[in-house]
Amino acid sequence: MSQFNYVLVGGGVASVNAVIGIREIDPAGSILLVGEEAYPPYDRPPLSKKMLTNLDLGLDEPESKFPNFYEDQGVTLMSGVRVESIDRDAKTVQLSNGETVGYEKLLLATGSHAVQVGVEGSDLQGVQTFRTMDDMIQLREAIRAKKTIALVGMGYVGAELAASILAHHSKVIIVEQGAHPWARFASSHAGSYLRGQFVTNGAEMRFNHSLLTLKGDGHVSSIVLSSGEELKVGHVVFGVGVALNDELARSSGLEVENGNGIIVDAHLRTSDPAIFAAGDVANFPDAMMGARRWHAEHHLHAKWEGHQAGRNMAGAGETFERIPYFWSDLFDDHMILRGDPDRGTVVKSFGTPDVGEFVDLYADAAGNLVAGLAMSKNEPSLDGISDALEEHIKLATPVAVLTKEMILK
Ligand SMILES: Cc1cc2nc3c(=O)[nH]c(=O)nc-3n(C[C@H](O)[C@H](O)[C@H](O)COP(=O)(O)OP(=O)(O)OC[C@H]3O[C@@H](n4cnc5c(N)ncnc54)[C@H](O)[C@@H]3O)c2cc1C
Repeated sequence: MSQFNYVLVGGGVASVNAVIGIREIDPAGSILLVGEEAYPPYDRPPLSKKMLTNLDLGLDEPESKFPNFYEDQGVTLMSGVRVESIDRDAKTVQLSNGETVGYEKLLLATGSHAVQVGVEGSDLQGVQTFRTMDDMIQLREAIRAKKTIALVGMGYVGAELAASILAHHSKVIIVEQGAHPWARFASSHAGSYLRGQFVTNGAEMRFNHSLLTLKGDGHVSSIVLSSGEELKVGHVVFGVGVALNDELARSSGLEVENGNGIIVDAHLRTSDPAIFAAGDVANFPDAMMGARRWHAEHHLHAKWEGHQAGRNMAGAGETFERIPYFWSDLFDDHMILRGDPDRGTVVKSFGTPDVGEFVDLYADAAGNLVAGLAMSKNEPSLDGISDALEEHIKLATPVAVLTKEMILK
């Protein structure tokens, strides 16, 4: 049986940044990083953006680190291997290749997987979800074959996929039960601007519609909506959200909140002091957002949390304190979202929503700033806005006193 000081489970951005965190404190401890996907750790944001707008980009383009990173950092990298179970008493993990590995500190950074709506026909060929490199490869084939592609769900992944596919002048049908893209977190004027962008770029849209069934003889050939309308398609992508990969934590008896991740403390430690969790799968007490417990599904959050978990696994004992940061790119528009829009509603806006240059401010019940969503075609201009939002969310500044000059920096 091999033995490591640190075993990192999951080949995503959280684990990779845990390596960096560990090495800042412990330059010599042995590290094993185990990821079940066949690729070295890669970043997901490019999958729905440049990997689809430019179909010729190589599969190494989104890799989180250059290949020599793992060797340079003294990391044993196992790709294509799954951690099947944890024996917390023996402090070992069982791997899918038959090996048993001992750990002193263990990180669970197992992320999430895309879910599908359980409608009839969702097992037909040409129907997929979108989360992984393999999903991206499958969708590239459909784009190359110039198929009519239906996108079900207009959250941030669905909207990015639609925009990227439209760049190839392929036919895109959007099906969304909300009234506009990003309906879960964006204001109606942000949504109507985005709707307009999809119209301009040639999408066929069915907002306020849900999917009833998929039809086809082996391969999908049409979709039927709840209105009864039937539309011919050659490919279907579900962008309807994710479920957390918390089964390892559950089966080993760690504390888990149903559907909301592995419970960690402010140091990102689980209910077992030798085991930490980070990234999408970690349910943490957010000191910056009123100590609310939640799990984020954001790239930078997973990066920051992984880094902090790594430092704490190596003994730093620091609390995790960051204002959430999410971004998205659609056509030539860039968006950033700071804070937590679920805690408030949009009460003030600056700029010109009609042309996609604006900031929406979200206030909680007490009227204090809890989130801000900014859009612009000028990406660098969002940096100053992001800093201003971060500052005023930290201060819980009343939105009523915030002026344009204080935010549009
Ligand atoms: C297409 C797409 C675009 C995105 N774009 C943005 C964006 O623009 N901005 C933004 O902020 N966020 C974006 N996100 C979200 C962001 O990518 C995630 O929040 C981030 O990937 C979470 O990182 P993670 O390390 O926690 O988990 P993941 O990236 O999910 O990685 C976890 C890995 O662990 C593996 N694993 C699970 N269980 C085991 C096991 N038992 N043994 C071994 N391995 C296991 C999984 O297969 C997976 O490879 C995007 C996500 C997607 C899918």
